Amino acid sequence: AEEMMIRSEKMSVAGQLAAGIAHEIRNPLTSLKGFLQLLQAGVKHKDEYYQIMVDEIEKMEAITSELLFISKPLTDHKEWESLPELIDDVITLLRSQAKLKNITILREGENSLYVNCDRSQIKQVFINLLKNAIEAMDKPGYIKINYRLIRQTILIDIVDEGEGVPEEIIHKLGEPFFTTKQSGTGLGIMITKQILDRHQGDLEIMHNADKGSTFRITLPWSEVS
Ligand code: ADP
Ligand code: MG
Repeated sequence: AEEMMIRSEKMSVAGQLAAGIAHEIRNPLTSLKGFLQLLQAGVKHKDEYYQIMVDEIEKMEAITSELLFISKPLTDHKEWESLPELIDDVITLLRSQAKLKNITILREGENSLYVNCDRSQIKQVFINLLKNAIEAMDKPGYIKINYRLIRQTILIDIVDEGEGVPEEIIHKLGEPFFTTKQSGTGLGIMITKQILDRHQGDLEIMHNADKGSTFRITLPWSEVS
């Protein structure tokens, strides 16, 4: 009976997600159809309409590519990876995006720490959290990634100087499609949590104020074998 219950719970999550996807795709489609009909009728302000249509299509593109990531088979290829190297890879990836906003990303921690993980998945975790940090900052400043080993746990803090998360929405972070951004997908934190789950890790918001927020990743540590 227990197994059945677990299964039906899972189905309802999938069902919820499917309903959310349908909704998130239908809205831009409806709006695209409307604008196409207007253009067909030969209205003015064509350039404005084209821009809105491109935005709507980009939103659907973003949603579908994040969903493709979720639907990838759950085969984990866990190997021993150097955490500092992995973080540096992601920083390199996002450096130009950060630079555009005059943001510097720094890594702080010992140079040798290994974690047993699926490299591309954990990279995705850092990409999602760093993107959020960059998007939260509208002034030049720093994003710091510091990590350390405490007892048998690796703690990784991502500290930004952004606007912070309003107290009343903290509990909604990680709900599929919850976003406060104009062109957000609201899938980043959900995916991040799923990946960390698969690694027996966790994600918490540790500090939060209008001077910025700190997201903490925890991952289990063990001796390299
Ligand atoms: P998206 O980035 O597409 O909105 P996410 O799941 O990545 O979706 O994030 C959900 C919401 O959480 C964001 O819309 C934002 O309101 C909030 N959020 C996440 N990270 C931060 C952060 N570092 N600073 C402020 N708000 C954040
Ligand atoms: Mg995001």
